[in-house]
Amino acid sequence: MIIEPILDFTRMDKQTKTYVDAFMADLIRKNPGENEFHQAVREVVESVAPVVMAYPYMREQKVLERMVEPERVIMFRVPWMDDQGEVQINRGFRVQMNSAIGPYKGGIRFHASVNLSIMKFLAFEQTFKNALTTLPMGGAKGGSDFSPRGKSDAEVMRFCQSFMTELQRHIGADTDVPAGDIGVGGREIGYMFGQYKRLRDEFTGTLTGKGQHWGGSLMRPEATGYGACYFAEAMLRTRGESFEGKRVCISGAGNVAQFAAQKAMRLGAKVLTLSDSDGFIYDPEGLNEEKMNYVFELKNVRRGRIKEYAQKYPQAQYFPGERPWRIPCDIAMPCATQNEIEKADAKTLVNNGCFCVTEGANMPSTPEAIAIFQGAKILYSPGKASNAGGVATSGLEMTQNSMRLKWTAEEVDQRLRTIMADIHAACLKYGTEEDGYINYVKGANIAGFMKVANAMVEQGLV
Ligand code: NDP
Repeated sequence: MIIEPILDFTRMDKQTKTYVDAFMADLIRKNPGENEFHQAVREVVESVAPVVMAYPYMREQKVLERMVEPERVIMFRVPWMDDQGEVQINRGFRVQMNSAIGPYKGGIRFHASVNLSIMKFLAFEQTFKNALTTLPMGGAKGGSDFSPRGKSDAEVMRFCQSFMTELQRHIGADTDVPAGDIGVGGREIGYMFGQYKRLRDEFTGTLTGKGQHWGGSLMRPEATGYGACYFAEAMLRTRGESFEGKRVCISGAGNVAQFAAQKAMRLGAKVLTLSDSDGFIYDPEGLNEEKMNYVFELKNVRRGRIKEYAQKYPQAQYFPGERPWRIPCDIAMPCATQNEIEKADAKTLVNNGCFCVTEGANMPSTPEAIAIFQGAKILYSPGKASNAGGVATSGLEMTQNSMRLKWTAEEVDQRLRTIMADIHAACLKYGTEEDGYINYVKGANIAGFMKVANAMVEQGLV
């Protein structure tokens, strides 16, 4: 039974509000202390509750209750030895959240802050994001509280091998296909793939984000940042605008930030900022191709810090311990981490004339910040819609691996553009409000939810 919401879901009545409150109270009771998970679930439940209320079978089948319970959580010890010969112990995770529409798929994060709450929030978001891509992928996320920062290549390799020695028994090309995320780039995927292949004796597409000469898709490194810019272009077009001549503030200096900056710049924007967890740089002249190449080399080869940019380009300023949101801009693209735009940052952005916020990171805006953006009726897209280009291209890598062939960069880029346009169209379909304002949060949540919910109902009580 396929259902399509045709009712007006723009308003939440008292009964629906009561449902949301009761649902959240139960979730918080069952998952104490998991604040990021609570935050991610609340955002979705508030969007989809009117749909659940409109269709009694959704409540009878407890679709939403099932969706917030991971199908499986794997938590494991990761012992490894550092360069001094000292034994180190980290904790590994894989949260296999939902496999209703395809094999589990989602990145692996290596960062000191990783815990079960962050893994569950990311796996939950991933489920809806993957549904939005139109590709057959379920939702998962994994990682460890290991930080590659300051570690030698040999230490990172030993850690990755130990991590994969346990993880390999839970994943596979038709079961669960991990990819990169914060702290996991080409180097880490390489070490993990090598160990997977060695232990399982198979060369399959079980990880995505692989090297170009051993199964990786062209355009996968670029895909999240480029996709976010394609999505922003579609948002801007709804107001007759484009990137041309716009001032753009970007946070982060990693994979997503680098390629968002490159694409925004190539689309005619002036990219003013980049950041890392120590501070941000402000270049009033904006980035250009030469400066971008310097950033690629600095971050991806030398693994340096963003403050070095201000030493290389003296017109740029470095602000330690700060985020870039006080620099006046037209478009903001948070591409670092969760909850990096708080209420005060959102107010500053809006007061300084920012009229478009496109998320490259996952859940970078707090609920209070989102309320400011939506209250000011500026363009605002949640990461699960605008950063879906990364996982979509991972899906395209899986397809190429299964077919044992490789598409050209142009072919992958064209598919990425089409997918981002389709996600934007889905947001418009379910998120356009009575006054014409496009609520991308609601649009993305309802569109993703409908697909996963229908698949779950059709597959019975599993
Ligand atoms: P990277 O590790 O390549 O880069 C992360 C960047 O964000 C670094 O500059 C890092 O600085 C900064 N950062 C990380 N944590 C914090 C923090 N707590 N405070 C301030 N800055 C921080 O990761 P990605 O670029 O891959 O990921 C960035 C975001 O995009 C994440 O939210 C991720 O989940 C999301 N995302 C990534 C996708 C991908 O394809 N890679 C796909 C979809 C979403 P430092 O070096 O100091 O740690």
